[in-house]
Amino acid sequence: MFGIRVLIYLLGIALVIWILMRLAKTPRMKKKSAKRVGDMVRCTHCGVYIPRNEAIQDSDHYYCCTRHRDRKL
Ligand SMILES: [Zn+2]
Repeated sequence: MFGIRVLIYLLGIALVIWILMRLAKTPRMKKKSAKRVGDMVRCTHCGVYIPRNEAIQDSDHYYCCTRHRDRKL
């Protein structure tokens, strides 16, 4: 009887530790992904999302490749 109670108690502690570890990891991953999403821009021609540093900028518009930029012009 007592043994089962101790086992359940230990399982409860293990579960709490596991949940706390998961919660501690999640915000870091969210911050990283949020930064990546913030750096994404949309191609004005085809609507594809590309990283800002890889995109071709033409005044206020971004393009995924030079072909799409030239078509627009
Ligand atoms: Zn495009």
